[in-house]
Amino acid sequence: MTVLKTEQLTKQFGGLTAVDEVDLEIEQGEGVSLIGPNGAGKSTFINLVTRRLEPSYGEIAFQGDSIIGMDPHEVVQRGMSKSFQTASIFPELTVKENATIAALAAEHGSFRFNFFRNQNSYPAVDELANEVLESVGLYDEREDQADSLDYGNKRRLELGIALAAEPDMLLMDEPTAGMSPDETKSTVDLIKRVKDELDLTFLLVEHDMEIVFDISDRIVVLNRGSVIAEGTPTEVQNDPAVQEAYLGG
Ligand code: ADP
Ligand code: MG
Repeated sequence: MTVLKTEQLTKQFGGLTAVDEVDLEIEQGEGVSLIGPNGAGKSTFINLVTRRLEPSYGEIAFQGDSIIGMDPHEVVQRGMSKSFQTASIFPELTVKENATIAALAAEHGSFRFNFFRNQNSYPAVDELANEVLESVGLYDEREDQADSLDYGNKRRLELGIALAAEPDMLLMDEPTAGMSPDETKSTVDLIKRVKDELDLTFLLVEHDMEIVFDISDRIVVLNRGSVIAEGTPTEVQNDPAVQEAYLGG
């Protein structure tokens, strides 16, 4: 089943075409990486798909429905989640409270509005929050204040918050940016584990080729807004157009 499908997706900034008629399809359970040189249009593509940017033209379908015209939060509600944004953490609350709020928000749309009317669903939400904290390795830290977590654990919590919404697809734009080699390794291991455990569908933007080859079922290469290659890690690695874009770019 196709989770995400873009057709001719295009974004122009003045005279610059940042994303140029991109056709992309992602199947349920597939882990896809979007790579390409700086300025290739990767972040712009992610921002189009999450509806943070309006396309110049083209189509985006999520779970079979067009999402053109929808608000970003509506797309999140439908099961698309973007992870590794520090802004998603409530620093004053505990780790567990952060996961619980994320689970509630997903369950009810607006937790503030519905929480006190839907006490019945609380045990399920509590269980989900615990499961998520276990899968990102933060169960033992659940009573800690989020702000007190170290850098690596904050990234784990961000992933947990995204997963608590039980997304059908997770988008990540350079999740390991600014991380030490150890933090990078543990984040990559975490993403792999979560992908296997939850059969997660993801679209990852990452510049570290070692990570990309390790983690992806399929790689899509963008250069100057256009897809120049697509395939398994091995196929892409041996593609002359890719070598040209990276070395000759
Ligand atoms: P990447 O994430 O692959 O490095 P981006 O998607 O950030 O690339 O940028 C693609 C191109 O679009 C770049 O040339 C960038 O300067 C340009 N760009 C991105 N965002 C804007 C914007 N808001 N206004 C004008 N130009 C932009
Ligand atoms: Mg970028």
